[in-house]
Amino acid sequence: MATTPIRVLISGAGIGGPVAAYWLAKAGHDVTVIERAPVLRKEGQTVDIRKEGLTVIEWMGIRGQVDDRTTKEAGMRLVDTKGKVWAAFPQTGDTSFTSEVEIVRGELAMLFYEISQANVRYLFGTTINEFTETEEGVDVSLKDHSDSSLKQERFDIIIAAEGLYSRTRAKAFNEDISKPIHTLNAFTTSFSLSADPSDTTWADATMFPEKRVVLTRPDGFGRTRVSIMWHDKASESRTIVHPSTPIDKQKEFILSRFQDLSSHNLPRLLDGLNASDDLYSSEVGQAKTPAWSRGRVVLLGDSAYCPSPMAGMGTTAAIVGAYILAAEIARHPTNHTQAFTAYESHLRPWIEKIQELPPGVTLGSPYSKVGVKMVYWAVYLFSFVMKTGVVDVMAKLLMSYQGVPLPPVSTFDVPSA
Ligand SMILES: Cc1cc2nc3c(=O)[nH]c(=O)nc-3n(C[C@H](O)[C@H](O)[C@H](O)COP(=O)(O)OP(=O)(O)OC[C@H]3O[C@@H](n4cnc5c(N)ncnc54)[C@H](O)[C@@H]3O)c2cc1C
Repeated sequence: MATTPIRVLISGAGIGGPVAAYWLAKAGHDVTVIERAPVLRKEGQTVDIRKEGLTVIEWMGIRGQVDDRTTKEAGMRLVDTKGKVWAAFPQTGDTSFTSEVEIVRGELAMLFYEISQANVRYLFGTTINEFTETEEGVDVSLKDHSDSSLKQERFDIIIAAEGLYSRTRAKAFNEDISKPIHTLNAFTTSFSLSADPSDTTWADATMFPEKRVVLTRPDGFGRTRVSIMWHDKASESRTIVHPSTPIDKQKEFILSRFQDLSSHNLPRLLDGLNASDDLYSSEVGQAKTPAWSRGRVVLLGDSAYCPSPMAGMGTTAAIVGAYILAAEIARHPTNHTQAFTAYESHLRPWIEKIQELPPGVTLGSPYSKVGVKMVYWAVYLFSFVMKTGVVDVMAKLLMSYQGVPLPPVSTFDVPSA
């Protein structure tokens, strides 16, 4: 038992939620995780885990299992519509486009769930209906979506780890759900399909006019993961990618956005999209929240500081954030305000640096055919220069968090109960 065990409600069983649950339960706290989906969500593309995130994973004793499940991606290539490779960037280290540890998001989520569930109560198909703070705690009405029943429970704190569009954040801060979201006007959908003999261990990106990109990646389990990205300033795409839009409608819309294009593998990929049963679509945006807590509610991961796939650090930030939040709660179990303030002050400078996207970098390709051609030539020349070993400046520039001190997770401690 912790010296002062508290009752913690974590909303969201994605990445940050289960990691925080693991550490808080280890410290002897009474932890409940609720998840809106009826089962653990396993959709999504490959995510990368960098440096300090890997340290936390090592301390959880699952580094070996993570390594066994990596995608073993060789690196990233720029490929044209005829299948010709214009540039190849092999996985070489921490400044590569492909990081040392790339893993399918669902595999990682499953590992965090499995390691935490022995000491944590998980409730799937459940959301927060209402909550009211009192001097003694926070009274929460939990909604079980299987039968729409409501159940009252009291907790000491709520951790909102609900991803970019967090309802609990909106309720706690009394604001519109999209208020802290800085849209990049880009959208992405991902799905998997059986690997074809022509698929390789490389991540292959093909650019098309009107800022459309198709990316295929190995998943390490004999399937190919496909991401399709497009830009849209109109609100239609935002409505389409919302989880409440039926999957068939999402498929129809995305297919219509790509039907004018042709490439050596596009028909197969679009057929795969149509047949997929693991389609996951989302907006590409950043969460820029002026404060990460209010009262007894604290935000974690994408709900607080989603950096967007452009920055490529969302998973690492959620893992590191979960650990530091758990450490500060363990240090101040009777004073949530102190715990939340310390968590934010340790992490915020690093997060703000991660969220700085290099100027001019957008997810997608140029609008015109000529622009796309120019990008191919520029990347070709850049890869040629890189091969000479003279510069890896661009990679460092793109990974702008390099050189920014990560929070020294080794200085934080979560005691075992
Ligand atoms: C299904 C899925 C696929 C993804 N695929 C990719 C990908 O391909 N590439 C990439 O870079 N990032 C992807 N992400 C985002 C990535 O997981 C996060 O950027 C990062 O790992 C931070 O994790 P997080 O725990 O903060 O949020 P998430 O991993 O987004 O987890 C949030 C969880 O909260 C749940 N939730 C949402 N609202 C509520 C609510 N009101 N009540 C209870 N539960 C709620 C969600 O269902 C989800 O399980 C994906 C996220 C999800 C949910």
